[in-house]
Amino acid sequence: MIPAGLPAHLQHFIDGKPCDSVGGATFDVLDPVTNRTYATAAAGQAEDVDAAVAAAQRAFAEGPWPTMAPRARARVLDRIADLVEARDARLAELETFDTGLPITQALGQAQRAAENFRFFADVVVGQTDDAYKVPGRQINYVNRKPVGVAGLITPWNTPFMLESWKLAPALAAGCTVVLKPAEFTPLSASLWAEIFTEAGLPHGVFNLVNGIGEQAGAALVEHPGTRLISFTGETTTGQTIFRAAAAHLKGLSMELGGKSPVVVFEDADLDAALDSALFGVFSLNGERCTAGSRILVQRGVYDEFVQRFAERARNIVVGDPHDPRTEVGALVHPEHHERVLGYVEIGKEEGRLVAGGARPEHLPEGNYLAPTVFADVPPTARIFQEEIFGPVAALTPFADEAEAIALANDVEYGLAGYVWTRDLTRGHRVAQSIEAGMVWLNSHNVRDLRTPFGGVKASGLGHEGGHRSIDFYTEEQAVHVTLGDVHTPRFGGS
Ligand code: NAD
Repeated sequence: MIPAGLPAHLQHFIDGKPCDSVGGATFDVLDPVTNRTYATAAAGQAEDVDAAVAAAQRAFAEGPWPTMAPRARARVLDRIADLVEARDARLAELETFDTGLPITQALGQAQRAAENFRFFADVVVGQTDDAYKVPGRQINYVNRKPVGVAGLITPWNTPFMLESWKLAPALAAGCTVVLKPAEFTPLSASLWAEIFTEAGLPHGVFNLVNGIGEQAGAALVEHPGTRLISFTGETTTGQTIFRAAAAHLKGLSMELGGKSPVVVFEDADLDAALDSALFGVFSLNGERCTAGSRILVQRGVYDEFVQRFAERARNIVVGDPHDPRTEVGALVHPEHHERVLGYVEIGKEEGRLVAGGARPEHLPEGNYLAPTVFADVPPTARIFQEEIFGPVAALTPFADEAEAIALANDVEYGLAGYVWTRDLTRGHRVAQSIEAGMVWLNSHNVRDLRTPFGGVKASGLGHEGGHRSIDFYTEEQAVHVTLGDVHTPRFGGS
């Protein structure tokens, strides 16, 4: 299904105006259901990034955005949230078309994007600067200033929502930005220009450069004018960016890959754990950074859990992402589909296939995969260790708490973890022992935007959420003022 009014060409947006690449380079964008090219997009090169960064630097230097009262910036952010909300159905339609995500889930992501703007508007208004007084003698205060031009680099899973997670705090803090969206999914990002212009964001505060990671993304990281880089994507890309950013000692925030464990103890509410584990690994097509893709189940309930999990997985509705009944849609791109299918073949050697394992018969075209479940997966298996980023679950039994924790931590990643037990003392103990930035105990993946979001180990660097995001996009300056007479030790005087 092709959305009405679909643009045939996607441009950059620099200094308040749409434009193509200086050299005219483009790349093709595919529809994941048919794998046909539906549009071309301008492929940004170093000179396009130069123009975008220059516009952002001008907007930062000339103002008024960085020096506006936080409340005035917050009013613009609230307008942006309203405009996103007013377009949520259209955004979901475009996002579904571009990513293959089921339409009902894409709608939820569009609403979360609006919420991110409202949330960070409130955070920045509520933020108070620190002041330290020495009565009658000294007042020392901390001035928090936006860092400057922020480079924002985002992945293709839930692109619009993840862009909002960076744009909202960066703009709230008073930075000006250059956004480089993922090349697989540039469509929804084109709506930012329209939304920001209508909300009254001054020209040059928001700039968009489309393009390939190794070209436009790398140029943004290497550009001396970007003072910090907020990146979400694969761990290996994060490492490349880390090295490149070292040349200018840029601030970095990295939200990277994951291979998160779900630990189910024998005393758990098994129905609730099943619902959550199925949703956790198969929603968003399994293309979710916090997917609970390793499901560790205590031996006493393991066989029952495997049987019920596999049966439910076989009943998941896979199909046209635009159909509201669809639970798993098409994977984003044929290259990614191939990669995930490769892991499925590896899994057939490493574990016991109990559901899926191939393209559903009724879907001969498009990047589809039936929800796939492997049981008895040993921790040495590649499908246990490596992020697949598709609808593939690995189930592994454990004997006791110590083995559960050892298995949970036996990977290089440390993004999220999920624990299911009715013994709350053990639940907290295990939650605290899991090497992950976020753990959900008897809870599915619900977010409170005030809490830190981010990973440890190979899953990231720095945590965002609440005031932490504003901290990242600002820098502190201490100002010391003496009241009354100044008593400086005299050097060189008589
Ligand atoms: P990716 O690393 O391939 O690409 C992410 C972005 O980086 C894209 O915009 C890409 O063009 C750009 N890029 C690629 N090479 C670059 C380079 N050398 N310099 C600068 N930019 C470059 O990741 P992806 O395949 O788009 O996304 C999937 C990955 O993202 C998964 O690993 C997933 O776990 C991760 N992810 C993490 C989180 C989180 O919050 N931790 C959230 C969503 C996705």
